Amino acid sequence: MQYRSTRGTTDQTLSSSQAVIQGLANDGGLFVPVDFPKPNINLSEFVKLTYQEQARQVLGWFFDDYSAEQLDQIVAAAYGDHWDDQTITPVSDDHAGQYYLELFHGPTLAFKDVALQTLPHLMTNAIKLEKVDRKIVILTATSGDTGTASMCGFQDVDGTQVIVFYPHNGVAPIQLKQMFTQPGDNLNIVAVEGNFDDAQTYVKQIFNDPDFREQLLIHHDQFSSANSMNIGRLIPQITYYFNAYTQLVQREVIQVGDKVNFSVPTGNFGDILAGYYAKKLGLPINKLICASDSNNVLTDFFKTGEYDKRRDFNVTISPSMDILVSSNLERLLFDAADQDYELISQLMDQLTTESHYQLPAKVYDRLSDFAAGFASEDEIRAEIKRVFTADHYALDPHTAVGSYVAHQYQKETGDSTPMIVVATASPYKFPETVYQALNDHEVEEAGLPAIKQLEKYLQTTPPAGIQTVFGPDHRTETVVKPAEMKAKISDILDLN
Ligand SMILES: *Cc1c(COP(=O)(O)O)cnc(C)c1O
Repeated sequence: MQYRSTRGTTDQTLSSSQAVIQGLANDGGLFVPVDFPKPNINLSEFVKLTYQEQARQVLGWFFDDYSAEQLDQIVAAAYGDHWDDQTITPVSDDHAGQYYLELFHGPTLAFKDVALQTLPHLMTNAIKLEKVDRKIVILTATSGDTGTASMCGFQDVDGTQVIVFYPHNGVAPIQLKQMFTQPGDNLNIVAVEGNFDDAQTYVKQIFNDPDFREQLLIHHDQFSSANSMNIGRLIPQITYYFNAYTQLVQREVIQVGDKVNFSVPTGNFGDILAGYYAKKLGLPINKLICASDSNNVLTDFFKTGEYDKRRDFNVTISPSMDILVSSNLERLLFDAADQDYELISQLMDQLTTESHYQLPAKVYDRLSDFAAGFASEDEIRAEIKRVFTADHYALDPHTAVGSYVAHQYQKETGDSTPMIVVATASPYKFPETVYQALNDHEVEEAGLPAIKQLEKYLQTTPPAGIQTVFGPDHRTETVVKPAEMKAKISDILDLN
């Protein structure tokens, strides 16, 4: 199994472990399989497997240069008893006409844990396989949750150092607190003036700066990425689409072969792309519903075929989805364009230089697996209230976006296919917003006191992972301008 760049020929291919280490292709593209795997999946048998067994199968399809023992160990280490639910990603009962796939039972309370509990193990084993003697510097831009989840996953992992860039004033209080309180001597955080797109753009530029890369090599360092641009982050996310399906089969909500819809709160397009890959592998999915907040570039894109980021960036109550440039869309387009890497390079260049592009009609026509919609902040709050009032089930603001858009879709289309909303974070990660949506007035104090206040109101126990934020701070906030990011990295790595 070989990987290639979405912007280059197949003359330069990499093994999966090389792709995991490198993270991003040197030409700015993303790694994708040269030949997409076509495993012979017997879904009736798959239903009988545990989450860990399913994850092991999925990893085996994509990471075939790792040994069977390595993959067994990776799965065991990733999905152990540090998850507060032994089904790992439980599907809720039917609440107000929808099922919720709860991806927030890991240590940092958001879906990023599913992949970021796996990626460090994929990385350390890849380092062994490739006999790399350099330190791997994980450079990450975060809209909030990737930062905390990658810090938690890579905490004190030998041979790695993590540098997280996040938008100053652009992440929620608990997300920030998680980054402060996460222990680990190899972890660094830096706030950047600007929004997530700025941080992500500069991180990508630094990645692709040949001089800087050279300077790092001299120092026995090498960059990699923990963003969903890394294939090692994307592939583990495929498992929960299969697992959600098999849970509904076990409960006899559906029978093997029946179709389901997934509604996915979307930012960088990593989560929903994993759903698309699951469908490509043969999972009976009808529609993948791309749900955005008011940064709704993708809603317009799926309706018109034009990607246009020439609009205001909104900082919203769903910060992890405040993104205008969704990196992983490139992988979908590459697939829909039959691997036409020249077209993809041209479109991505145009996005950089002109801030928009129009998809050729024949590529656009291949996107019919998707539906799209968005929710405003008022609609998010109203959705949190609607579902709680109907069924006493609390949604976080991101999940509420998925829930609202799914509900609208059902009303507009009459599509009665069972609907699974991907629940990407615990309501306790955004207690200020959830409390306010339910009560119509603000919490007394943001951050830790808000967790207590929400707990009292909901009368449920917060996930175990919340405990970390009540511990001591291990680092403080440093703010830099985008132009200072490179110097900051040199500083942290002692390059000068
Ligand atoms: C990251 C994140 C999203 C968006 O996922 P993408 O893979 O970036 O599309 C949605 N909700 C939460 C809570 C997240 O942390």
